[in-house]
Amino acid sequence: MAMEVKQMMRAMVLEAAKEKLRLELRPIPEPDDKQLLLKIQACGVCRTDLHIVDGELTQAKFPLILGHEIVGTVEAVGKGVKRFSLGERVGVPWLGGTCQHCCYCRTQQENLCEKARFTGYHLDGGYAEYTVANEQFCFAIPKRYSDLEVAPLLCAGLIGYRSYRLVGDREKIGFYGFGAAAHILLQVARHQGRQVYAFTRPGDELGQDFARSLGAVWAGGSEQSPPDSLDGAIIFAPVGALVPVALKAVTPGGVVVCAGIHMSDIPSFPYKILWQERVLRSVANLTRQDGEDFFALAKQIPIQTQVSSFPLTEANVALDCLRQGKIKGAAVLVP
Ligand SMILES: [Zn+2]
Ligand SMILES: [Zn+2]
Repeated sequence: MAMEVKQMMRAMVLEAAKEKLRLELRPIPEPDDKQLLLKIQACGVCRTDLHIVDGELTQAKFPLILGHEIVGTVEAVGKGVKRFSLGERVGVPWLGGTCQHCCYCRTQQENLCEKARFTGYHLDGGYAEYTVANEQFCFAIPKRYSDLEVAPLLCAGLIGYRSYRLVGDREKIGFYGFGAAAHILLQVARHQGRQVYAFTRPGDELGQDFARSLGAVWAGGSEQSPPDSLDGAIIFAPVGALVPVALKAVTPGGVVVCAGIHMSDIPSFPYKILWQERVLRSVANLTRQDGEDFFALAKQIPIQTQVSSFPLTEANVALDCLRQGKIKGAAVLVP
């Protein structure tokens, strides 16, 4: 009689904030009623992961498997699963679950649900060979994209898109911080006939060349003034000092959107740079509708993500490269 052996998987595990991830063998999780068991093909590395590792986001469960840009194929399903079937390729984003009945959930603002559970933060994520995810929060992935190409779309793409939509139909848009999200949204903006001004870390000429190669009308360091005034700006970098910089660069009535989940403190600034109906606002998380809308768009626009891939076991190296600004485009882990 054969003994049933619990199947194991490799995972990169964060035991506590400020530690390195450790390679561990873990039992492959079993899907509950509404969950999919996914064999992971690729998982993007997001700046939010760095904020979790650094302890700047304090609600993480430990030990934790990071990763919320997961591309996987369905290996097993819970009894109540209806939307996806075995073998299908799905994407798992940051929003992993909501209460579905609070005032936010009932008014298309589930991104603000106080009971929301986030992938790779409250729930184990994609720095592993397998994961489970509630099917109601997963997305079908357009066929035109490879696993590697599509991984960064799952957070950089769709939370970036939420930020981008909040700029409205303004034409000249500044992107402060030219990483994974900016390089995706630049392509969306170009497709819609807008002009993007890209601001990188001071002296990052490679980053500026990269932005120009994707069609930015101007690229420079964040200490530089753009040649024209901007109608709107998105701050992707987690640098509070960029808020007054961006406010000074936008015209009256312009909007500045802070796209990140964490930012260093914003220095005080004179009221006159906000006056004349300039708007300063933040973006939090995503709704499932953001994802559906973004992937519908990504089906039409051939978004070309620039990806640096790392083996799963080199997750610490990938995180370090991201921290040092050495990633052109997006970092993706491959099990
Ligand atoms: Zn809710
Ligand atoms: Zn993210």
